[in-house]
Amino acid sequence: MSKVCKFGGSSLASAAQFQKVKAIVQRDSERTVVVVSAPGKRCSGDHKVTDLLYLCGAHVRYGVSSEEIFGLIAQRYEEIKAGCGLSLDLKPVFTDIHARLMAGMEEDELVSRGEYLCARLMAEYLGFDFVDAADWITFTFDGQVDEAASYAALQQLAAGRRVVIPGFYGAMPDGRIRTFPRGGSDITGALAAAALDAEVYENWTDVSGILMADPRIVKDPAPIPQVTYDELRELSYVGADVLHEGAVFPVRLKNIPLNIRNTNDPDHPGTLILGDIQEEAGNGNFITGIGGKKGFTVLTIHKTGLSSTPGSLLSILEVLAKRKISVSYMPSGIDSVSLVVARSQVEKSLYQLLGELQKQVKPDSIAVTEHIAVVAAVGRKMAFRPGISGKIFAALGENGVNIRMITQGPEELNIIVGVEEKDFETAIRVLYDGFVKEKQV
Ligand code: ASP
Repeated sequence: MSKVCKFGGSSLASAAQFQKVKAIVQRDSERTVVVVSAPGKRCSGDHKVTDLLYLCGAHVRYGVSSEEIFGLIAQRYEEIKAGCGLSLDLKPVFTDIHARLMAGMEEDELVSRGEYLCARLMAEYLGFDFVDAADWITFTFDGQVDEAASYAALQQLAAGRRVVIPGFYGAMPDGRIRTFPRGGSDITGALAAAALDAEVYENWTDVSGILMADPRIVKDPAPIPQVTYDELRELSYVGADVLHEGAVFPVRLKNIPLNIRNTNDPDHPGTLILGDIQEEAGNGNFITGIGGKKGFTVLTIHKTGLSSTPGSLLSILEVLAKRKISVSYMPSGIDSVSLVVARSQVEKSLYQLLGELQKQVKPDSIAVTEHIAVVAAVGRKMAFRPGISGKIFAALGENGVNIRMITQGPEELNIIVGVEEKDFETAIRVLYDGFVKEKQV
């Protein structure tokens, strides 16, 4: 079985990074499918090739000369080519792109050339075959990937070969190039891994996995060694900077492990994302990761008999649904329910919403609490351990964090607390220092 390896922009930013990629691929003969992004930033202040390509397109659209930017892009590839001692003749490729750019080439096609050229160079460097993404990833006219057709096409194209595939794009039914959202090479890698029933989808980047907490809040948080797909979803729901849903879905569906690795530290095992993790419930840390988000408003509706009156919750939710407001969390009591909603969804029409709720629900009272942040401790092991929530609440209380709301998903994968926004960072640090850091020493 093959391993599909996707390398991100920072792993391909220069000839020196290309060398690291080659060493990684050559280390394991099962790494037979390589998916590449376009070259990223070499240092802070540098530019990603994809950004330069978008800029180039904008210059042409506004009738401003794009020659300088185009030259910078060409230079990036020439430098990689020279540094890796490659022979691919880039001149005719750039002449062709330039001519078509001037003739009104579509933006999606223009920006896709970043990945295309990177894959051509990488294929030569590794001695692999180049397989164009446009030859197997096909979109339907409504913009969805046609998975059955795409998978079948790649199975044929990659059979018995070692290949390099450009990320980020595919082709529409009429052959026009279409790109995924930004960062979309991750999606290409996941589709390739799913198509080929890969043993693992390795996503090589510049960090040693998904961090247990936001490094802007917690100093040097540890990477998560193993996480389930369900836990990952919980963490990304509360704002953790993890992979795009589209980059997870194809491999998750086929139960293919996803391994996030660091090109600059290839011996580090990174984070392994699995469908299910068999382990002794009592061992190790009960928190897998900590996430959180600011910007919530809580509407607490009190009405005597709320729980015993059929349809009363429905009437509340109908008012919100009509206004296209989604409810993030909904802790409830016998005579009350709290609706935790994103502030951005209610701030402009809060008074109309309250009026509508008064009219339709006829509550005893409605209280509005603004500037709430949610903090979630996520961990598959929490379900098996008694007393976890008590410990968490005690630690927050001892550190002066006022808990305004508590809720837990039915799968017991998380414990979520609502705190005032001013306490957000403290709450995350208290949880990390108390329940993660302590366990590592
Ligand atoms: N190069 C594209 C971007 O910068 C796609 C990717 O890197 O995944 O968004």
